[in-house]
Amino acid sequence: MRRRALLAAPAVLIARAAGAVVLEGRLEQGAFVRGRTEPGTRLALDGTPVRVSRDGLFAFGFGRDAKETARLVVTHPSGARESRLLAVARRAWLEQRIDGLPPAQVTPPPELLERIAREREMLRAARAGYDTPEAFFAEGFLWPLTGRITGVFGSRRILNGEPRQPHFGLDIAAAAGTAVAAACAGIVRLAEADLFFPGGTIVLDHGHGLSSTYMHLSRLDVRVGGRVAQGEVIGAVGATGRVTGPHLHFEIGWRGTPLDPETALPPRPET
Ligand SMILES: [Zn+2]
Repeated sequence: MRRRALLAAPAVLIARAAGAVVLEGRLEQGAFVRGRTEPGTRLALDGTPVRVSRDGLFAFGFGRDAKETARLVVTHPSGARESRLLAVARRAWLEQRIDGLPPAQVTPPPELLERIAREREMLRAARAGYDTPEAFFAEGFLWPLTGRITGVFGSRRILNGEPRQPHFGLDIAAAAGTAVAAACAGIVRLAEADLFFPGGTIVLDHGHGLSSTYMHLSRLDVRVGGRVAQGEVIGAVGATGRVTGPHLHFEIGWRGTPLDPETALPPRPET
């Protein structure tokens, strides 16, 4: 299997004695990008504000279907403004067929639609509803557990022969009960034991609109509002929700846009 580089060498986007903007990460669809600049600088990516910490750290991401270019507007502390067009590389996505799912999980019966919509809104609010000033993400992300990768980000999905929305996470297979660790420090924004599709679910807020999500858990060890350290056990692998076997579905996102977790994680550990 292709091994991805952790992060491309830092690229200096704007070089100035004061007010350099340095980006770390591949500029490609699905990518998590970290950077630093002079504190007090303001940034906006395609019109969306990018929070800069008091230390000058920031992060953003490109969605699965990001356009070929994105515009980063930099307003220096002096008030001077610069605009840079970033080239966003296209990626090819896999196709994944999953058969043998219970029909109600592929096309839910009408009486469940209200519940599913309510749960989707809860998840959206937990992941996109916070702009916490603490830059927890600065420490980087670690694998929440090690196991065989059974599903990757971005795949087109065909469930029981029917096309469905792409897969926005990373599936890591492990025995039920295996400990799941926080990929990065943060604040718990959602901890629900029984959602229809995702099963037991935790959402962590890593600051600046970045989140990570853990699904199909059999056990939750955290509560909403609590703080967790990187590597702290937050729950256990399970087979709750729409699954064919025990695994962790792991997502990261920026302001509600799912990103490829493998663009933020170290290379895949040996399993
Ligand atoms: Zn998954």
